[in-house]
Amino acid sequence: MAVQTVESTTGSAAGSAAPSVDLGPAAALSCRECGHRVPLGPVFACQECFGPLEIAYDFSGHDPEELRRRIEAGPANIWRYAPLLPVPADVATKPNINPGWTKLVRADNLARELGVTGGLYVKDDSGNPTHSFKDRVVAQALEAARAFGFTTLSCSSTGNLAGAVGAAAARAGLRSCVFIPHDLEQGKVVMAAVYGGELVGIEGNYDDVNRFCSELIGDPAGEGWGFVNVNLRPYYAEGSKTLAYEICEQLGWRLPDQIVVPIASGSQLTKIDKGLRELIELGLVEDRPYKIFGAQAEGCSPVSAAYKAGHDVVRPQKPKTIAKSLAIGNPADGPYVLDIARRTGGAVEDVTDEQVVEAIRLLARTEGIFAETAGGVTVGVTKKLIENGDLDPALTTVVLNTGDGLKTLDAVADTGLTATIRPNLDSFREAGLA
Ligand SMILES: *Cc1c(COP(=O)(O)O)cnc(C)c1O
Ligand SMILES: [Zn+2]
Repeated sequence: MAVQTVESTTGSAAGSAAPSVDLGPAAALSCRECGHRVPLGPVFACQECFGPLEIAYDFSGHDPEELRRRIEAGPANIWRYAPLLPVPADVATKPNINPGWTKLVRADNLARELGVTGGLYVKDDSGNPTHSFKDRVVAQALEAARAFGFTTLSCSSTGNLAGAVGAAAARAGLRSCVFIPHDLEQGKVVMAAVYGGELVGIEGNYDDVNRFCSELIGDPAGEGWGFVNVNLRPYYAEGSKTLAYEICEQLGWRLPDQIVVPIASGSQLTKIDKGLRELIELGLVEDRPYKIFGAQAEGCSPVSAAYKAGHDVVRPQKPKTIAKSLAIGNPADGPYVLDIARRTGGAVEDVTDEQVVEAIRLLARTEGIFAETAGGVTVGVTKKLIENGDLDPALTTVVLNTGDGLKTLDAVADTGLTATIRPNLDSFREAGLA
């Protein structure tokens, strides 16, 4: 674990001098490729090699028993893990959307259908404030935005992120302006717009939106803007670690044997791995092997395709799938995902849109959980991995549901009334319902 202390000073985003930033145990930014370290600031790429920057922490001086007790006594949201996140110690007292501590559902009915005997759980992140896992990452980025003096919160989004940014900015009293592909699901557009920020449709797909945002950051027009998934990305990404922390704590401070994670940019998967390794290094869980599996939709499966071909690099694709929240054709963390799947003994797999819909229905009818298409992807891939023999049904398995089915109603729009009857018993019997 990184224990080197680096003076954490940075110029503020607005251009005036900010003496220092307090982001708790975050000590510096460190390049994932070459290890070059720079002070904490709103930067995301290494000046030496253009590799992605991530947070290096000073976790020295923690006693595992003490830390575990402190976490357990914390709030029922992600801030219980504040000592492990790039946030100030008093983070829970500031206006934020306080996501996390979502249910880990023991899914015995689904386990029976899939033939899992080792214990199957669904980590249901539809229970977050804006009904997706994105609240976790945005809550982190908001703290960084505050620390760096940004006045506008922004992002490029495949849908869920837009809503999470709108809500977080509203709570914090910041302006928000978010960019989305113009053809998103209506549920996501309405959800993003209702918080009162600006919502801009871009004529293009997500990768076009992302490119535009990078351009805006380099332009004077983007001054004072914190893009949660671009110039605040190192901070944002750490929010996904909380999924790993919660799953282990909810299992009684135990690592799951296998975990199935959806892939869009791949950031969530890489940070879940980082979170699990931190818990091991801090002595909060026993050090034993775990396997991480990645899940994609066939219509946007650049990482799965590279995995199956044995490649180390990911060739971009043009997305065409109903799983729009995962439709990133050029995933930034793709190579790291390949690395983690191979290193842990996991795999990356994909399913067709029909299988996604089937899986949404399967999860709903077995466990009473209505997942968005991304959840259909993870459940569908879990089924396929078991059938292929890649996933061991005798081991404890956690499947992520990262979003709410109400946002992607179109996927199951042909579901409807069983019958329409007159309000009397004869009519009820005639319809064959008795
Ligand atoms: C954004 C998102 C993900 C994962 O995104 P990454 O870019 O891979 O971190 C997963 N599920 C849903 C519903 C999302 O919105
Ligand atoms: Zn570098």
